[in-house]
Amino acid sequence: MRKVIAIDGPSGAGKSTVAKRLAAEFGFRYLDTGALYRAIALGLVNNGIREDASDETIRRALNDMKVEFTRGRVTLDGLDVEDSIRLPEIGHCSSVFSARGPVREHLMPVQKLAAENNDIVVEGRDMTTVVFPDAWIKVYLDASVEARAKRRFDQLREKGIEADMEGASRDVTERDERDSSRDIAPLRRADDALYIDSSNLSALEVIAMVKKACDKEAVR
Ligand code: C5P
Repeated sequence: MRKVIAIDGPSGAGKSTVAKRLAAEFGFRYLDTGALYRAIALGLVNNGIREDASDETIRRALNDMKVEFTRGRVTLDGLDVEDSIRLPEIGHCSSVFSARGPVREHLMPVQKLAAENNDIVVEGRDMTTVVFPDAWIKVYLDASVEARAKRRFDQLREKGIEADMEGASRDVTERDERDSSRDIAPLRRADDALYIDSSNLSALEVIAMVKKACDKEAVR
């Protein structure tokens, strides 16, 4: 495994912007693990799998499902699904299905493999705690519910998806509650992660803080 910069945090904290820019500046690969969970959720929904399906049913459906993330886009069984996974309904389903053991087991090797021969910036919910606990740099990126809802709202609007502030706020609150309280790989701050509250910071300011941590680590 090469150098891993791992970023966790709740939805709308600004992880993607920061992770993408850091990867571009450092010449590292970039992995959006939320996109993997969203693609799996889309695949399960397309296969008619219900949210309360048994582990066995989910496992069987996952058997022939292939998810890949390359050059900033995610594919499901070879088809680019980057646009459809961003719909709010899929955001909801990804949060529900990502709490299930078979889904997390299915994606573990995909994530590990991405870091095998590459320096990489990874972002998600359990990067610093479960998937890459020995990462070179660990960051927990947080923000107030208001700031996160506003970002989520702007992101959806930018993509031409219908949205309102109340719905965006409900979405981030509900998903964070579910992501933080699940039994397997819940969202939590690792003891040794750099904590950044981005509520009143620009992406550039957050990036500067992470880069400072990288510089410090590089001379150790
Ligand atoms: O980051 P994003 O909002 O695209 O993630 C969608 C959902 O996927 C999250 O709400 C979370 O439930 C799940 N997820 C996860 N573990 C990760 C990344 C995302 O459970 N490492």
